[in-house]
Amino acid sequence: MVECGHKYLVFTILQRSEKKLLRILREVDINLKSPINGLTALHFAIEWPWALQHLLNENADINATDDFGRRLIHLAVATGHFESAIALLQADCAIMTSKTTPSLLQLALQFTNAEQRSVIIPAIVDALADRHNRLLKLGRAALPEDQLSALEILESKLERKAPDIMIALFGSGFSVPQALALDDRSVYDTGDMHGSIRLSPQYAEMLWSAGFHDIDSPNHTGLTPMMQSWYAANFEMVNWFMQKGVSGRSRHQDAPLYGLHLLAVRIAYPGAYFRHDSDLIDTDLALILNLQHDQTINHDGCVCICAPQGCTPASFLVKRVLRIYDKKLYALFPKWCEKTNPSAELLEHSAREYTRAWICRKMLLPHTCCVIGQKCEIMVQPQQPENSYEVLFIEKLFVEDYMRLYDRRRPEYGGPLENFPRLFIGEVESTSNGGFMTFPFISSMARL
Ligand SMILES: [Zn+2]
Ligand SMILES: [Zn+2]
Repeated sequence: MVECGHKYLVFTILQRSEKKLLRILREVDINLKSPINGLTALHFAIEWPWALQHLLNENADINATDDFGRRLIHLAVATGHFESAIALLQADCAIMTSKTTPSLLQLALQFTNAEQRSVIIPAIVDALADRHNRLLKLGRAALPEDQLSALEILESKLERKAPDIMIALFGSGFSVPQALALDDRSVYDTGDMHGSIRLSPQYAEMLWSAGFHDIDSPNHTGLTPMMQSWYAANFEMVNWFMQKGVSGRSRHQDAPLYGLHLLAVRIAYPGAYFRHDSDLIDTDLALILNLQHDQTINHDGCVCICAPQGCTPASFLVKRVLRIYDKKLYALFPKWCEKTNPSAELLEHSAREYTRAWICRKMLLPHTCCVIGQKCEIMVQPQQPENSYEVLFIEKLFVEDYMRLYDRRRPEYGGPLENFPRLFIGEVESTSNGGFMTFPFISSMARL
């Protein structure tokens, strides 16, 4: 019977029958959840703002979550029902998200249509500013002086302090309204493997004016907002962060990787925003040139046969491509050169590094260099146990042999250098002795 009430209410909302809805609103429990997915009637009403408002007036639970933990506000924003989203924000809904799901602002920043963005993003920025300021006010009024100074509450980086204020309030026995529970991440966080969270200077300036000044803290994968912008090939934001005083030499928190390394990862895997097509990736040669000039930041500290002086952006081009897309490597280096326009000297160096990493890949060699994850987190792959000193020695001999052949062939080749790696690999593969020696073979040889 209870379930019938829920079904009937949902059915009435889907039918959009105003008369029927007004009649049954007081007859059924409007906060009942579906036994299948935990959705309440209010979840269905995001498509019909009139009903949503009436349900809210009857004290429907504005913060109800479904069985996947999704709140109404997140569904309303993600599905583009902005009239309902704004009504929910004005009714002071909770906006907190778990660490593993996109924040409310990140959901809004995934819309590409300028008109849609102009409706929802300012509404969310206003809501974020309002809630942060109310939380700070509550903290200042409720917490003793010594606790406030221990929290080092600086208004300039309020967004990083919000979770601490909340914990301190809870610890002191105060209850905090759900609407003031806030995410523990910078509002400038756009780290996303698909590059789909697009902040722009217009909205960044809006956040800045609202009092959010935490522009240089790394997120949980170790990327600062500036590094996230390099990874998203969002150069107008790289420029914006630099205008706000962030260094152009910003690096990954967990490894000496700079903008060019992350751009290489993006070009190797363009992601959904660039429709998986590296041709569509933007470029900014002035910014790129600025980093290319600094030779010291080209190599990270890794030691691996694939990159004896440390990984370079060219190593990341090779490492980021999945084995099933191996063929991509033939076109990737020319694409990288087209996007980054290296000097003759840098081109010579990168072509060699690229070829070396590709040879190691062809040989199925295990790496002892860094591995980067889907959100550019550093995952160091442990050395294979069978990778003994003898095996390493023989592997190195083979790789150096191929590289000596590369160095012999290189001066004979007069065409565009960006094409040389693929021609060289093609030549070795087509040799009569079967192309590249592979790691399992080398390994068994070393055991003899
Ligand atoms: Zn390696
Ligand atoms: Zn590395």
